Amino acid sequence: MITVYCIIVIFFICSAGHAKYLPKNSEICQQVLGNELLSEISSYKNVKEEIFKYVTEGNFKGKTYNELAKFVDKFGARPSGSEILEDSIDYMIQLTRDEGINDISTEELEVPHWVRGNEVITMLKPRVKNIDLLGLGRSVSTPEDGITAEVIVFSNFEKLEATPIDDIKGKIVLYDPPFTTYGETVIYRLRGATKAAEKGALAALVRSITPFSINSPHTGSQTYDGNITKIPTAAITLEDTDLIRRLYNRGETVVLNIKMSSSYDTKISRNTIIDLKGIEKPEKLVIVSGHIDSWDVGQGAMDDGGGLFISWAAPVILKNMNLRPKRTIRSIFWTAEELGLIGAYAYEEKHRNESSNINFIMESDEGTFAPLGLAVAGNQEARCIIGEILNLFTSVNASTLVEDDSPGSDINIIIQTGVPGASLHNANERYFWFHHTAGDTMNVEDLKELDLCAAFWTAVAYIIADLSVDIPRYIK
Ligand SMILES: [Zn+2]
Repeated sequence: MITVYCIIVIFFICSAGHAKYLPKNSEICQQVLGNELLSEISSYKNVKEEIFKYVTEGNFKGKTYNELAKFVDKFGARPSGSEILEDSIDYMIQLTRDEGINDISTEELEVPHWVRGNEVITMLKPRVKNIDLLGLGRSVSTPEDGITAEVIVFSNFEKLEATPIDDIKGKIVLYDPPFTTYGETVIYRLRGATKAAEKGALAALVRSITPFSINSPHTGSQTYDGNITKIPTAAITLEDTDLIRRLYNRGETVVLNIKMSSSYDTKISRNTIIDLKGIEKPEKLVIVSGHIDSWDVGQGAMDDGGGLFISWAAPVILKNMNLRPKRTIRSIFWTAEELGLIGAYAYEEKHRNESSNINFIMESDEGTFAPLGLAVAGNQEARCIIGEILNLFTSVNASTLVEDDSPGSDINIIIQTGVPGASLHNANERYFWFHHTAGDTMNVEDLKELDLCAAFWTAVAYIIADLSVDIPRYIK
């Protein structure tokens, strides 16, 4: 079950656009850090450079990209509940063992298994036209002959709510909010069907959540509220949405036939945990993570193959370089992120008693384009320490600290409990062009950028795991 809390989490992670940038070397940070810690952090410059050299010029050069390509080419899409996802988890375990790391465990949990069937939308009036679509996660099916009805278009929920039920009842609601940020716009995908059903609509369509399109529909999760009639729901392209809006504004009656089928049950999947044990405080964890599942369209190379592989690479690189930090580096491959952060919720629940041992938690799930720094959740003291560590990455242009209280998707669940954490801040302006589409393939990924991300991710995790001080928690 996706709870309202989950929706809130999904909503907030995506509002990174509103995050503030912390002024570097602020006076507050000078006081918080003190000379001893400042000089300790600066002493990691050499090890950071060694890691970059090994990953971008040495034996690891190109490995993150090449291993990701092998993985993506072998498995393709890895939807929650599918056998392919489980096979891909087994593959990652073996790949890790082949690198000489054997401290690997998996934790089983129940996950949603929603399978898309045939999906066709035909515009019948004012002219006949095929409308490209992707059903949204957990959408129910239409009757076999489909739903044929007139379209009513809303640019926001306020307009829907202000319209009498009789004007909406028996129609297909189409939402066409202009894309601003993902966080602001995605609410129409997440909540659109429920809100339309409350007004008696037969189906709900949403303009794909993207700033750019070459007639590509973007799928994604959505939730039905408990007592409301579940109506079929799908995303259509920017082009077709805007066409329907223009016709509608001219007073034309737009009639669509929507045929969609799907099945839904649950299966068992696994979170995967790989530990590179710390030499002084093995019970203390610095977690790096990405999700291994993907949508059923595309290949999940970008979402989240890149994040998965840089998080896989971190313990492997450190092991190969014989770098053992004081604390344990734990790499987690979350399962079933796309249908509601299911793996992360299960991990948090199972490990709640040990949560005080998580020193810092990191996630990469917003692209692995050129790294720019970190989006950090933590108190002022935590941000000062992380900001000072990031200063070591000025030469590779990855020293930006973005203040963001909800920087990830999966990790937010643990951050809410007071654990400081961060997600990869990267040059991901094009991320939402490909997000949840058939276009999420290896062609989005770049070998050099992945090397830089892997080196940055590994070096940051190593330094945090090796520092003499813990990163302070939110709640003391
Ligand atoms: Zn993702």
